[in-house]
Amino acid sequence: MLIIQKYGGTSVANPERIKNVAKRIARFQAQGHQVVVVVSAMSGETNRLIALCKEVQPACDPREMDVVISTGEQVTIGLLAMALKDIDIKAKSYTGGQVRILTDNTFTKARILAIDEANMRRDLNQGYVLVVAGFQGEDEEGNITTLGRGGSDTTGVALAAALKADECQIYTDVDGVYTTDPRVVPEARKLDTITFEEMLEMASLGSKVLQIRSVEFAGKYKVKLRVLSSFEDEGEGTLITVEEEKNMEQPIISGIAFNRDEAKITVLGVPDKPGIAYQILGAIAEANIDVDMIIQNVGQDGSTDFSFTVNRGDFVKAQKILEDMLPQVGARQVIGDNKICKVSAVGVGMRSHPGVASRMFKALAEEGINIQMISTSEIKISVVIDEKYLELAVRVLHRAFQLDQPS
Ligand code: ADP
Ligand code: ASP
Ligand code: MG
Repeated sequence: MLIIQKYGGTSVANPERIKNVAKRIARFQAQGHQVVVVVSAMSGETNRLIALCKEVQPACDPREMDVVISTGEQVTIGLLAMALKDIDIKAKSYTGGQVRILTDNTFTKARILAIDEANMRRDLNQGYVLVVAGFQGEDEEGNITTLGRGGSDTTGVALAAALKADECQIYTDVDGVYTTDPRVVPEARKLDTITFEEMLEMASLGSKVLQIRSVEFAGKYKVKLRVLSSFEDEGEGTLITVEEEKNMEQPIISGIAFNRDEAKITVLGVPDKPGIAYQILGAIAEANIDVDMIIQNVGQDGSTDFSFTVNRGDFVKAQKILEDMLPQVGARQVIGDNKICKVSAVGVGMRSHPGVASRMFKALAEEGINIQMISTSEIKISVVIDEKYLELAVRVLHRAFQLDQPS
């Protein structure tokens, strides 16, 4: 079998752990498998590099920022290749550029366009273990690019797709995907399987155990994707599956996701007439700011209030854009709140079970948690609440949907 193994930052946090990873790889190779390894930077390293950039140039130049923040992974590929050689395993490190992972040129959040597998294939056939830097690639002009936070997951899955690997294993500090972040709810349970659809929603709603793009890739290219612990030798982890493969007895809700990284902006006294939403959100989109939830109230006296959420990092910028536009739009005032968060319940079982929303709202009401915004899709319900209730809300919903009970 050809296996891609991706090791996250905590799994390569120090020399001892790197040596442990090398031993695990050696065991797989001894079983007759070909192994391509993708590694992240040592834990904390990417944050440190970002902070350095900000200290030198607060509005970091994106091209140069990628030059800096891609270096964390270059250290770990070298170290892991050395650890492998030290136990007599033929190994070779590869930067993203050396593999030729071609991306677009959106620095700091580039997308992978193509992967040249020729060199890797040649080395694999000669018995090498390949150690590839996650999170990085190169654009057409040879500029170094990075794939966004958590991007090593995507490197792993993209390599699995390009090499048509039998499985992509994501090794991390938890032994699988849980019903919610086990750091927030200790009673969270590990799921043996989760569907691609659910995992996509969980990832996009804030569960950072897998970068969303890695799940998209795996779904699109039918990569067998598994999340496992790098600290345990036993265990099957969590397999991401297509829905048909899952057993018939679906729980209604599979998991609770949350995102602290949210902010809400409200434009008060907006004229209630055609074109207003376009005027407001068009300006926001032009500034490359993603908008998530949107609410427009029923107009009264010819005017209405218009609210939407953005990433917390874009809050100040978005607010400024709208304040400058106030006279033009004919609105009264812009107010904002960056102390909010989003909590979501996700599950394909929702499709066939009505009443999920009311159960969710009831559980929150019983704790006196006020819901500021709601959005739904076929398989998820999200609410925006005050950030200070985040942990409470997640725990309460986890219990309300009996996620702490064995299914
Ligand atoms: P790595 O450095 O290995 O990429 P990450 O920190 O990116 O690891 O992802 C693993 C972390 O994701 C876990 O430590 C856990 O706190 C968090 N997490 C959030 N939601 C979930 C979930 N539903 N199941 C498992 N882990 C989750
Ligand atoms: N080192 C990068 C980050 O911290 C990529 C990754 O770990 O997946 O975001
Ligand atoms: Mg990660």
